[in-house]
Amino acid sequence: MIPYTKPDLDGSEIAYITEALRSGHLHGGGEFTKRSERWLESRLGTHRAILTPSCTAALEMAAILCDVGPGDEVIMPSFTFVSTANAVVLRGGVPVFVDVRPDTMNMDEDLAAAAVTDRTKAIFAVHYAGTMCDMERLVAVARPRGAMVVEDAAQALLSTRDHRHAGTIGDLGCLSFHSTKNVTCGEGGALLVNDPALAARAEVIHEKGTDRSRFLRGEVDKYSWRDVGSSFVPSEVTAAFLLAQLERADAIGEERRRIWDAYHRALEPLETAGIIRRQAVPAACEGNAHIYFVITRTAEERSALIAHLRARGISATFHYVPLHSAPAGLRYARSAGPLPVTESLSDRLVRLPIWSGLDPEPVIEAVLSWSRSPLG
Ligand SMILES: *Cc1c(COP(=O)(O)O)cnc(C)c1O
Repeated sequence: MIPYTKPDLDGSEIAYITEALRSGHLHGGGEFTKRSERWLESRLGTHRAILTPSCTAALEMAAILCDVGPGDEVIMPSFTFVSTANAVVLRGGVPVFVDVRPDTMNMDEDLAAAAVTDRTKAIFAVHYAGTMCDMERLVAVARPRGAMVVEDAAQALLSTRDHRHAGTIGDLGCLSFHSTKNVTCGEGGALLVNDPALAARAEVIHEKGTDRSRFLRGEVDKYSWRDVGSSFVPSEVTAAFLLAQLERADAIGEERRRIWDAYHRALEPLETAGIIRRQAVPAACEGNAHIYFVITRTAEERSALIAHLRARGISATFHYVPLHSAPAGLRYARSAGPLPVTESLSDRLVRLPIWSGLDPEPVIEAVLSWSRSPLG
């Protein structure tokens, strides 16, 4: 079976992990943590990068830094992972869902602007499939109203728009290094603090609500409880794994790009024939080839395509079940208006396998043979 995804490991991870174990410094904040954070800061261009145990944890820190409280609204797409919404709900806030654009499956910027109310505390933008939202537009919507902007860049490490990196344009950005993402340490994440005014508080929240970071730098002679916080520090073993992967991030990206481009070229005739629509990437964007998706004409044809590929040993898969109609979405969130694009396209989207070393030809052949009889 050709899997949908597979991490790209080359053994350099083991060397760094061994070094971390031998150092005896196992909790976070050691050399590997510092080197990973400096790599992210210099490569992406952000004031401060802070490693976290997951992107979920980074989103939770972001919601605290946005001061989301009971009844505050946060605008976001319904077509996203649960963590984008949970981070807000955990603070007592209300996710306000807006529809996505059919080309990128990212939040529609016009609808986000229209969803702003007196209670809007923040906009959480999600860069689906590694294609960036129009951040300048979203920042321009939020800023005059005193709302913050957070980028859920879980899928978008090294993606750019107008040559600026995903996660570095809003006030805060959140990255994931889960094993399904391009660069991984099994489970991991990072908070990018783009607004320097938020950095001191981010450090405190990160260290269980204490000023332990200042204590370790010798700036205070003991540390104490200053603010809310939690256990948001990953271990040095995780950071060692991550640094090895970050140092290979470009090579991993090139491998994925090779497969993404092959799919995009080979499937163009199917788009011309009106059988599928291919993922679209706006001209200003350079994606990181995290996901390659196509949209079928109907939900039935989507099921037939997935079954056709499965019968040929290929794992292709749908993606998010929209949050607005899920049980917790009905209980904790609201929609700004109808979400017809989300509802229709989430039923028709298929992701094709993409990972380093994959031969895309059998997958392309199988999609082409499906297209001759799209209902199976
Ligand atoms: C993967 C993902 C997350 C969660 O990342 P974890 O590191 O697993 O917590 C959040 N949001 C989006 C859009 C994701 O794709």
